[in-house]
Amino acid sequence: MRRQAELAIKKADLILFIVDVTQGIMPQDRALAAALRKTKKPVLLTANKADNPRARRLADEQEWLKLSFGPPMAISAANGTGVGDLLDELEKQSAATGLGLVPLPKIDLHVAIIGRPNVGKSTLLNALAGEDRSIVSEVPHTTKEPQDTLVTLHREDGTDMNILLIDTVGIRKRAHVETGLESMGVRMSLGEAARADVIILIIDAAEGMNQQEKRLAGFAAEKKRGLLIVVNKWDLAAEKKLGTAEDFSKYLSGQAPFLEWVPLVFVSAANRSHTNKILEKAIEVATQRQRVLTQEVIDAFMEKLKKTHHASFGRGENRPHVYGMTQAGSEPPIFMMVVKDKETLHPNFMRFVENRLRDEFGFEGTPIRVLAREIDG
Ligand code: GDP
Repeated sequence: MRRQAELAIKKADLILFIVDVTQGIMPQDRALAAALRKTKKPVLLTANKADNPRARRLADEQEWLKLSFGPPMAISAANGTGVGDLLDELEKQSAATGLGLVPLPKIDLHVAIIGRPNVGKSTLLNALAGEDRSIVSEVPHTTKEPQDTLVTLHREDGTDMNILLIDTVGIRKRAHVETGLESMGVRMSLGEAARADVIILIIDAAEGMNQQEKRLAGFAAEKKRGLLIVVNKWDLAAEKKLGTAEDFSKYLSGQAPFLEWVPLVFVSAANRSHTNKILEKAIEVATQRQRVLTQEVIDAFMEKLKKTHHASFGRGENRPHVYGMTQAGSEPPIFMMVVKDKETLHPNFMRFVENRLRDEFGFEGTPIRVLAREIDG
């Protein structure tokens, strides 16, 4: 404990010295206080476990002054009492010492990794965190566990990218999920995953894609997140007679045709084979999700569409009369068609336009939406 404390003291700009208000000064407190008095660093004495008024009063005891850091601030980490005041005091002290609170690094991309137990999430997360070209630091969520992992990726073009890997179910820490917890794990991961720009769904190559995984993939699209499917354990492909990557893609399109626009990355997390492609692909997906087409480009697209598929448009009865289209939003891209009569727009027509947009511009990995509004004309 002493060695740890010494290290922490050396690295710190300001020290929160926490004592247990219900215990009074303990011998270790006295020893730590002696060590702390030798540092030139500011010390804020904090009396924890002041959960109720009676315990809070203990913080007023003269005894604490013997530590020579002034009267302690009473807090309860358990129920939050006094924590706001403590933060105010911390901020005041750090401003007074000219430190300012240490800013969090700017995060360029939020990525969530989801998948059912045993598909290899922890192995993969460790592989991603262990890449030579990445620096990893743990970033606690505001106050509660689990920890997110910040990966700074040095890219080939010389730029750095700060990618926050959102730990959806404490996958890095936890050894294994018991089956009973499975549904909870998934529910938690969904809530957390909604914070991500891009969701990476890991599946086990040998197991294929089940109903639950299709729902998870559907969720990503529904929440308008980018989506990437990582087919893990591809090292087993030969042994399990899975065929080529192309065969597997075909199998997936058969299973979940709605995922046609989702890129696949085939990896072996255990062998760390191709895992370096994952974050690069996630960045590409995020870029597609942010994409904004100029009006000129959209006009040219619509012109071409009307020429090549003129049977789908037209002035006749029950033919959609489309005046034009604009991009009404991004992350993900939303397109707004301006039409004469919405009644004539069949859902298939909207899908048709979406598919042509994808043919023309890619938008790989991002959901896109095509909407319509009417104007008189
Ligand atoms: P999680 O529950 O999704 O976090 O899965 P784990 O990372 O704990 O992996 C589950 C099991 O699959 C472990 O026995 C791993 O060693 C194994 N595993 C993970 N990745 C691979 C892989 O790429 N190939 C093979 N053959 N096994 C893997």
